[in-house]
Amino acid sequence: AAAGSASARAVHGSAGRQQGYMSAWVIDQYGTNGVLRHTEEIPIPEINSSSDIMIKVNAASLNPLDVSMRAGYGAKLLKLRRDPFTVMDSESEFPLILGRDVSGVVVDCGRDVTHFTPGDEVSHKPKTLSHVEAASIPYVASTSLSALVNAGGLCRDSCPNKRVLITGGSGGIGTFALQLLKAWGAHVTVTCSQNAEGLVRGLGADEVVDYTAGNVAEQMEEMEKFDVVLDNVGGNTEEWAMDLLKPWSGAKYVTLVTPFLFNTDSMGLLDGTLNAGLTLQSKAAQSFVSNGVFYRWGFYAPDGPFLDTISLLVDAGKILPVVEAQFPFSQVPQAFHKLEQGHARGKTVVKVS
Ligand code: NDP
Repeated sequence: AAAGSASARAVHGSAGRQQGYMSAWVIDQYGTNGVLRHTEEIPIPEINSSSDIMIKVNAASLNPLDVSMRAGYGAKLLKLRRDPFTVMDSESEFPLILGRDVSGVVVDCGRDVTHFTPGDEVSHKPKTLSHVEAASIPYVASTSLSALVNAGGLCRDSCPNKRVLITGGSGGIGTFALQLLKAWGAHVTVTCSQNAEGLVRGLGADEVVDYTAGNVAEQMEEMEKFDVVLDNVGGNTEEWAMDLLKPWSGAKYVTLVTPFLFNTDSMGLLDGTLNAGLTLQSKAAQSFVSNGVFYRWGFYAPDGPFLDTISLLVDAGKILPVVEAQFPFSQVPQAFHKLEQGHARGKTVVKVS
């Protein structure tokens, strides 16, 4: 029952439960930035299951998915995940609070919750970071873990022998994945624009390729081949980056830019999932036969224990938060606008309180 990018005006009830209303930015329909509406009248959510926790949000970071969701992208599947019982009802998701990536304080817990207690700064927040800095981490950390470990087959112990290429190294995922891989001892090459070179080198990149300076594949021709490519860019990247992997040695191409949500929007949940599955299967077969590499899709997947590990790496100074822009809660539309302009250099965060 996290409150998205909402600030709770909490009124404590008799049983320690929250009562009353909170302020939030909501949408009542999908569309452009104009659909964002500020309200003070969203009922504070309740603990509905014994494993729920409720967080008073202090800061929330934006991800490209939030901008896409504002426009209705992924609506069918994401609605199913939020509330499987109302998926056929086209009105019931509104007013909808966007946002998924928060730092705050636990205000209430279901009776089976043991890992958190009211008053905890979550999730569990690195002690050395402010809420704004901490909010920049959970979504990109969980996605990087899922992509690099579950799909890419990497782990802390195997990384010292591995060469990894990250395309789109200057964005939210890129700046986090780069630091995690360096903390684990991998050799990391990133592609980015020329003006992001200082940033990614400062975060530990061993080699940097400026994709605006000409054909990237040609610029990398002389480089030793890679064990894993993490693709944050999509488009035609796989056409040239697949050849940069070591053939027939278990190398993996992992892309985060997949047609999955687009398919479920345009074809419906069943046909869209089926179609995405067939696309993935055919690309995977083709990559294995022609390049001897594994082709995989990476997805965000929540992972609490991993976030605890990340907190330790942050507190040890091995991973830095990369907050490019910070907006007050009154300027959520400006924060969306910033993200929509592209050219991210790390993360955009909204300070709620
Ligand atoms: P950001 O918008 O934060 O970063 C994208 C970065 O890529 C920017 O720094 C941009 O800077 C750079 N870039 C753009 N074009 C190129 C290019 N051709 N070569 C190299 N760099 C380029 O996005 P995120 O890092 O948060 O996410 C990356 C992608 O992964 C997004 O498409 C996102 O939707 C997807 N994603 C998917 C998830 C999933 O579950 N499947 C989960 C999370 C993210 P510049 O244009 O100045 O070069």
